[in-house]
Amino acid sequence: MSRQYDVVVLGSGVAGGTIARRCKENGLSAAVVESGQPGGVCPLRGCEPKKVLADAAKAVTSLRRHHGIGVKGEAGLDWQELMRFKQTFVEPVPGAVAKSFEKRGVDLYLEPGVFTGPTTLRSGEVELEGRHVVIATGSEPRPLGIPGEEHIHSSTQFLELEKLPDQIIFMGGGYISFEFAYVAATAGAHAVILHRSQQPLKQFDPGLVDKVVAQYTEDGISLHVNAPVMSVERNHDMLTVYTGGENEAAFKAPVVVHGAGRVPSIAALDLPAAGVDASRHGVVVNEYMQSVSNPAVWAAGDVAEPDLQLTPVAVAHATAVAHNILHPDDMRPARARPTPNVLFSDPVLAGVGLLEEQAREQGLDYEVSQGDAAKWAECRRLGIRYAGYKILANPDTGHIYGAHYLGPHAEEVINIIALAMRHGVTTSELIDNVWSYPSFGYALRYMLG
Ligand SMILES: Cc1cc2nc3c(=O)[nH]c(=O)nc-3n(C[C@H](O)[C@H](O)[C@H](O)COP(=O)(O)OP(=O)(O)OC[C@H]3O[C@@H](n4cnc5c(N)ncnc54)[C@H](O)[C@@H]3O)c2cc1C
Repeated sequence: MSRQYDVVVLGSGVAGGTIARRCKENGLSAAVVESGQPGGVCPLRGCEPKKVLADAAKAVTSLRRHHGIGVKGEAGLDWQELMRFKQTFVEPVPGAVAKSFEKRGVDLYLEPGVFTGPTTLRSGEVELEGRHVVIATGSEPRPLGIPGEEHIHSSTQFLELEKLPDQIIFMGGGYISFEFAYVAATAGAHAVILHRSQQPLKQFDPGLVDKVVAQYTEDGISLHVNAPVMSVERNHDMLTVYTGGENEAAFKAPVVVHGAGRVPSIAALDLPAAGVDASRHGVVVNEYMQSVSNPAVWAAGDVAEPDLQLTPVAVAHATAVAHNILHPDDMRPARARPTPNVLFSDPVLAGVGLLEEQAREQGLDYEVSQGDAAKWAECRRLGIRYAGYKILANPDTGHIYGAHYLGPHAEEVINIIALAMRHGVTTSELIDNVWSYPSFGYALRYMLG
């Protein structure tokens, strides 16, 4: 069977789904090819289920942090009940996504897509041809290439654990390991993070990361740096993880989780058949998210050459691709905008814009406002012992280059700063704003003053 469309999209995640719906709503025929369940990582095995677990953990740690300041009582996580609750968010997604395509007249093909030519591909028995083909196949765990790799759980398997073991090891010191370790430790497991180099959570301010690590240590989570995992061995129900480098050691746990980075999902697409250039960072695109080697092909989301692997970034790419397909005479770049990065631990760590090291490398003239936020009344009331901030701004104009904050509501405070950065709002204008009081918006005045 052979079918022709204006737009054929590979992948039904936030990027692919957004593009197919927008193109169809604006009069183009559109099909989506999906190799797994419709919906993609974010709602099925990423942001959404993770946040259900993190929010429950936060309810517990929040109560614990209030001990000794007037609040009594114990709280804990019931893993099985929490998993059942998490499923109520995940289970409806594939059906709802499929239905939303059907309602709009977007055809859905549920077999992996493989290119057969510059604008043709195969999904199962069906040959599809698109005037435009969009690659939005997302990312997958980085292959580790170490002995015993097959024993390691993926992040998806962690989010589906029926029973939480007493000990659990997270491989890699990125945000996924840190968030999962926080949840697992709050639920009662002894969590260990093994990170191959000196600095974990590289996208965040290192001084604030030190405070996160101090909080994690108090909460019983062990971090080992310069501890690259060399191999994993199974002995009945127990795994032994061997680390090399400066820290040759053996760690034991029944479950080891891969948090050591994700790579673009391109290996199975046969990109050479379509003449689409790719690097190990993903499909190589121009500023309009169009393949540099095949102008009929576009890429969006985690699969596109390096950009932050985050849902709002995937949505920004998708918005640009849909616009550019619909308006070839008025193409718009997928503009780089200040994009917040968040670690959903307790307290939350967030950042937007440049790290101080980057500002220095770029030779910018900047001034730094930084401090310990744990002594603010706002933090003391919540029993928060580790909090802080660092703001980098132009000393003459007050325009913000970068902002980093560890503390309550950091995910929202950083949104305010991202908006200020995008619209050129200066530090003195932020200070001058009328904020509700007491609030963490008001606390911006302490950070900027
Ligand atoms: C554990 C975890 C937590 C995360 N937490 C956050 C968070 O808190 N905030 C945030 O912003 N981001 C978070 N992310 C990242 C976010 O989920 C991704 O950036 C986002 O989902 C990328 O969307 P996408 O559309 O590019 O790809 P995806 O959502 O991955 O969709 C790609 C789709 O393509 C399909 N596919 C793959 N190969 C083929 C093929 N050959 N043919 C057809 N279909 C194919 C896949 O099955 C998938 O459904 C998290 C990710 C993980 C793993």
